Amino acid sequence: MEPGSFIPVSEPLIGDNTLPLVKECVETGWVSSEGRFIPEFEGKWSQYCGAAHGVAVSNGTTALQVAMKALNLEPGSEVIIPSYTIISCAIAVLEADCVPVLVDCDPETWCMDPDQVEAAITSRTRAIMPVHMFGHPVDMRRILKIAARHDLRIVEDAAEAHGAEVEGRRVGGLGDMACFSFYANKIITTGEGGMVVTSNDDYADRLRSLRNLCFRPERRFYHTEIGHNYRLTNLQAAVGVAQVNRVDDHIRRKRQMAKAYHERLSELPQIALPVERDWAKNVYWMYCLVLADDVPFDAVEFAKRLRAKGIDTRPLFLGMHEQPVLRERGLFAGSSYPVTERLARRGLYVPSGLTLTEMQIDRVCAAVRDVIS
Ligand SMILES: *Cc1c(COP(=O)(O)O)cnc(C)c1O
Repeated sequence: MEPGSFIPVSEPLIGDNTLPLVKECVETGWVSSEGRFIPEFEGKWSQYCGAAHGVAVSNGTTALQVAMKALNLEPGSEVIIPSYTIISCAIAVLEADCVPVLVDCDPETWCMDPDQVEAAITSRTRAIMPVHMFGHPVDMRRILKIAARHDLRIVEDAAEAHGAEVEGRRVGGLGDMACFSFYANKIITTGEGGMVVTSNDDYADRLRSLRNLCFRPERRFYHTEIGHNYRLTNLQAAVGVAQVNRVDDHIRRKRQMAKAYHERLSELPQIALPVERDWAKNVYWMYCLVLADDVPFDAVEFAKRLRAKGIDTRPLFLGMHEQPVLRERGLFAGSSYPVTERLARRGLYVPSGLTLTEMQIDRVCAAVRDVIS
C-alpha cells in the first residue's frame, strides 16, 4: 500500500459557508444553548422535512430518548422496532419503561418488513419505530395504514436518511415525530447533534421541556418531572444552518456516488448492492455490499482483505436479539431474525464519504473485484 493512499470510509463536508456563522458565535459570545442559530436551525430543518416544529438536541440517541418519553406511554407498552438497527432504538424504548418488540427486515431494502409489523401487534402495542435504513425509506405507506388501523403512534428514526422520500414526501414529516442525527458521518452534520421534528404542538412542548431539565415556565427551579440536559449549542447549530443550506448538494453527491458504484459492481454475482424501490428516493447514506452465500468467506474476512488494499470498511449492525446487554434483561430469548443475522455476517459498507472522488471509487471497485474473484 502506498503511503497516504488509504481511503477512509466516511468524511464530512464542511462548506466554506460555515466559518462566518461560527465566527459570529465566537465574536458575540453566544456559544452555549441560547442564541439565534438554534431556532434558525430548528426552523430550517423542520421546514425541510415538512414538519411544524424542530427541537434540537445533543445527538440522535437523545433525540430518540426524548421522543419516546414525549409519547407518555403507559409502562409496559410494546413498541415495535426493527431487529436490524443501532442499539439507540432499543435504549430509547427501554428508558421510556416500554418493551421493544422486534421485526425482521426486507432482504433488499434492509428496512423493517410491514407484514411482520402487522403480525407483531398485540393488545399492548402502542407505537412503531420505523428506521429508514442506510438512506432507503421504510415503506411508510403501509406503516401509516397499520398505525391508523390500530391507533398506534409512529416515531421515525431518520438518522441515516436526511432527504429520503416516499412517493415524493420527505421522511421526517410522515409520522408523529421523527428523529435525526447530525453526527460527523451523517448526511449533514453538526459534529455531534440531533433533532426531533413534529407537527404536534404538545409533543413539541414536551420535547423542549425534556431536553432542558423539565424547568417549569411559571416557576424556575421547581420540577414536577425528571428531565435531561440534552441541549445543543449555538456553535453547533451555526454549523447546522450552514449544512442545511447545502443539504441538496450532499444528497446529490451521495446519489452520484451510488450510481458510480452501481455502474462498476452491478455485474458481479457475488455481491448484492443497495436498491431503490420505485416509490422511494434513496439518499444512499453509506454504500453497502452483501456477500452472496456461495462466497467462501464472511464480512470480517472481506473487510480484512480490503483493508490490506488500503480500503476502509465498516461492518453492518448486529441484530438487537444478539446483543448480550439486551438478552441479559430477558429480552428476545430464543428468537431468530434470519435476514438481520445474514446482513450482520455477510455485509459491510465501503467508502461513502461526501468528498469521495470517481478515482477513489475506481480503486475501491478494483479492490472489491480482486478480493472476491
Ligand atoms: C447514527 C444513528 C443514530 C444515533 O445517532 P447519534 O447521533 O450517533 O446518537 C440513531 N439511529 C440510527 C439509525 C443511526 O444511524
